[in-house]
Amino acid sequence: MIKHDPNCIFCKIVDGKIPSRKVYEDAQILAFHDISPWAPVHFLMIPKIHVPSMAQIEDEHAPLLGRMMALAPRLALQAGCLPYPDGGFRMVVNTGSHGGQEVHHLHLHVIGGPKPWLRGAIPPTAAGGAEV
Ligand code: 5GP
Ligand code: ZN
Repeated sequence: MIKHDPNCIFCKIVDGKIPSRKVYEDAQILAFHDISPWAPVHFLMIPKIHVPSMAQIEDEHAPLLGRMMALAPRLALQAGCLPYPDGGFRMVVNTGSHGGQEVHHLHLHVIGGPKPWLRGAIPPTAAGGAEV
């Protein structure tokens, strides 16, 4: 599997060729605000290597996915999700056409903040500032 796809939007974000509002970054993982949030908090967590979707996941990726899952709750709180159990958040990984995946670089949506959530109804400024 290729580790980088020059035509992939999220690989370009990893490279800094497309700007993003970063939530978190380390050697393996990048998190950034979704350009089109549908809740007050909506960011994406991606591996820096190009993995198209969950359909390509192998055992070797388990530590990376584990780190993403383990990191998500802390980033969610830092991004403005309210504490469990009255608050909380949703974690979604769309996979393939039937799974509603539009960008084919594996990403974990982390979605939260006070309800109601309504896809497309939250202007970027309400989600924490100007989006790129
Ligand atoms: P999917 O439907 O593939 O699960 O979700 C892709 C997500 O990526 C969508 O929520 C969409 O708003 C977001 N997105 C697409 N292009 C960009 C971009 O260039 N920058 C950012 N920050 N988000 C993007
Ligand atoms: Zn990619």
